[in-house]
Order: sequence, then structure tokens, then C-alpha cells
Amino acid sequence: MRVYSFPRGGLSFEDPTVPSRDSSEIAYLPALSVIPLIQHTGGRAYPIVSVGDQVKEGMLIGRGQGMGSANIHATVPGKVIRMVSWKMAEGQTNDALVIRMEGSFEKLGRREEIYPWAALSPFELQRLISESGIVEMEGSGRPIPDILSALRSAREPFTLVVRCVFDDPWLAADYALCQERLQAVVEGSAIIARVAAVSRIVFAFSHGEKGIGERFLAESAIYGIPASLVLTGNRYPQRNRRELELVLRNYEKRESLELGSLLVLGPATLAAIHDAVKLKKPILDRYVAVGGSAVKYPQVMKVRIGTRIGEVFAECGGFIDRPRRIATGSPLLGRTVVDLDEPVIKSSYAVFALLEGQVGGSVPRNCISCGECRMVCPVGLDPEELFKKVGRKKPGSVPGGGDGGAGGTDGGAGLDGVPIESRLNECHGCGCCEVVCPSRLPLSTVILDAAARGR
Ligand code: SF4
Ligand code: SF4
Repeated sequence: MRVYSFPRGGLSFEDPTVPSRDSSEIAYLPALSVIPLIQHTGGRAYPIVSVGDQVKEGMLIGRGQGMGSANIHATVPGKVIRMVSWKMAEGQTNDALVIRMEGSFEKLGRREEIYPWAALSPFELQRLISESGIVEMEGSGRPIPDILSALRSAREPFTLVVRCVFDDPWLAADYALCQERLQAVVEGSAIIARVAAVSRIVFAFSHGEKGIGERFLAESAIYGIPASLVLTGNRYPQRNRRELELVLRNYEKRESLELGSLLVLGPATLAAIHDAVKLKKPILDRYVAVGGSAVKYPQVMKVRIGTRIGEVFAECGGFIDRPRRIATGSPLLGRTVVDLDEPVIKSSYAVFALLEGQVGGSVPRNCISCGECRMVCPVGLDPEELFKKVGRKKPGSVPGGGDGGAGGTDGGAGLDGVPIESRLNECHGCGCCEVVCPSRLPLSTVILDAAARGR
């Protein structure tokens, strides 16, 4: 079977501090849950319970307000004991309801009620997805109803792409979920195919996972939607929107298909859609990869949303030494955690703690013109050149390399005759250049900042 890959750049990497993806453990239920009112891309959900109220497991406690916002639910039964606020690493303030667990569970340990969905209209299905506060759980946190609304404005045929591309070992939680909840992911795909009227489902798997991909394809046959399996390369950033679309357009051409617009969703999101529709259950927990060199026993865990990250590490045996960096997501593009009381949210697919040796030196040095950043850029940009151009205006910048600070673009000085702004906008922030730079220059950070300022 042919393997499709993007044409240039990218990275292959392994990380021995990632937990094994072949099994998962269920984390203890937290005595105190911290449920943030922002677990999505937009504004905060409006709280509809107050301090002192009793809440049930799965009860709506925050109502999404407008685009980008999504409903928020209690993930354990108990009493709301306080409202807390904290500043996240990006400077944004988040509010959360703190629930002290007490009383009986509505869902946990009970026989699951199944709600047939085949007779429901796309409108009713979308309403169930919206009520359950389903967002993209593979990082972005964008609400699914927003994505579906955007699709409706286009008139093309659509293809649902089930993205199971494991180009980053930190996607161990997604892999465990694909193994353990295969039927839920496939049925979630069939549900979303109905809602968005997609004409085809493509299961995109990295070639090393061909066996699971074939099981997905076989399972999907019962839903009667045309489906196919596309094997991709596993170099990072193969799962990025741009690189994935490149290989799918190549596949489309080769197979003489018309895929039309691509609706790309990951396995955790699709399993959540299944639960919202078939079990009428909001997102109560998620698979999280817990690891990094500072963690004693890395493992994939099924964790209740609202569990504090410090408790998750404690369940993995705690730290073997003081961590130098703690973050969520992948070390490639992770978001720094400033407080171990920060909770696991819908989009937390991994949390990690790194020792000094794994972080490496963080003080940028001069560019040594090694060319590594050019070699790995999948877009064909020259990150070194861009970095020097946009970083050079800040006083105190690293000679010959910039300092990663807020320099401005130089208003149109070109690279190969192409305006810098165009080049900056081509960068999609994969982070490859920054990862390989031996001088530890914050290349992608500076390039993305400059692009955002230009826009
Ligand atoms: S972050 Fe941007 S410049 Fe750096 S490798 Fe990725 S696409 Fe290229
Ligand atoms: S990888 Fe770093 S040191 Fe090497 S050329 Fe690029 S910016 Fe310079």
C-alpha cells in the first residue's frame, strides 16, 4: 500500500520519556475538581451555578456564549465551594468553579443507557453535540458546532478526515484511545458524517499503524458511507493541517477522487461526539499521556476533567528531581503550566515535566549558520534569515541572531524579491526550526509573533 508524505523538511524523533502507548490506567477521582470556564478558543462560559450549590455529575454549570465558546459541565457530583481565577502563561485570565466531591454518581459505575441516533435529523444531532460542549480535543479547543457552521457556508462535497497520524510520540494518549475505543471513534465518525453530509470518510493513519487503520476501515463498513484508508509518513509535522492536506490532495489525484473540502477531526473528538449522541454524556474525562524525564512512572491515564495536574503527576509516582519545565501538550509546542493546581481540561492530551538535561540550555547564542533550520522547514522558508530580519530592531539582540524579542518587520524589505510579510505568513508554526537550532534561538516564536503583528 502506498505511503503518502509531504515533500520536504520535517523531523523524525523519538522520546524515551514518553509513556507506553499500549496501555492506560484510570486515575483516581479528585476530591476537589477545578473546572475552568474557558476550555475552548473563545470567551468564557457563563456560570449558571453559584458557590454553595450542589451539582450532579455531568450537570451543565457554564453556558457557552457565542462563537468559540462551549458549554461546561461538572465532572463529579458535589458542592461548589468557591470560584477561583488565575493568570495563564499567555497572560489570559481564567476563572474556574471548584467542586468538592460528595454524593452519588449519575454515570460512573452505572449501566450506560444507549440512545439510538439513526432516526435523528442532522439538526438534532448537532444540538446534542452542542449541548455536550464538544470541542476539538487534540489541542485547539475549537467548538465542533462552530466548525460545522463554517462548513455549511461552502457548497462543495466534504470529506471527513479521521486524523490518526502519530508523528509525535507525545500522541500516546490518542493511540491508546484508538486501541481501546475503536468502535466509539468510528461511530463518532459516522455521526459527524451525517451531521455535515460528508460524502466520504478517509482514515488517515501513519504507516506504522496500518493494522489499526484496517480495523477502523472494516468497522466503518456497517455505516454504509464510502470510506478509505490513507497511509501517511510519520515525520513531524505530518499531522498539521497543511502537510496532511498536501498528502490527501496527492491521494485524491492518484485515485481520481473528488474529496472537496476536508473536515479534519481527531480520535478523541470523535469518541466524545459518540458519547454526546449515543450516551448523552458530556466530556467527563480524557486520555492524557503523563511523562517527561522528571516523572517517576510515566503512563497514559484516563483522567477526570478538572483534576489538578499536580495530582496527576503524584499518581505517576511524583518527580524524581525538581523539574525545570512543566507544560501541557507536546514538548515541541507545549503550553507552560505556571501552577500545579491548574487542571486537566478537554484539550489536555499530554502533561510533562522535564529535568534540566531534557530542556537544554535556554540562553540563546549567536547563529552559527549551520543551516539546520532551513533543512527541516517543511514550507521551504529560511527561518534564520526571517529571524534576523524581524528580530534585529530590538536593542540588546543577539548579534547575528536576534534575541527572540518583539522586533518589528522592516516594512517590505524582500527575501528573494518576496515581501517579508508574505514569507512570515507562510510559516505555520510547526516549531521544527526552533527544535533543531543548536544556538537555541527562538526562531518560530519570533517569526509567528512578527506575522501576528503584521496581520
Ligand atoms: S515554524 Fe515556520 S519557519 Fe519554522 S520550520 Fe515551521 S514553518 Fe518553517
Ligand atoms: S539552526 Fe540556528 S544556528 Fe543554525 S542556521 Fe538556523 S538559526 Fe542559525
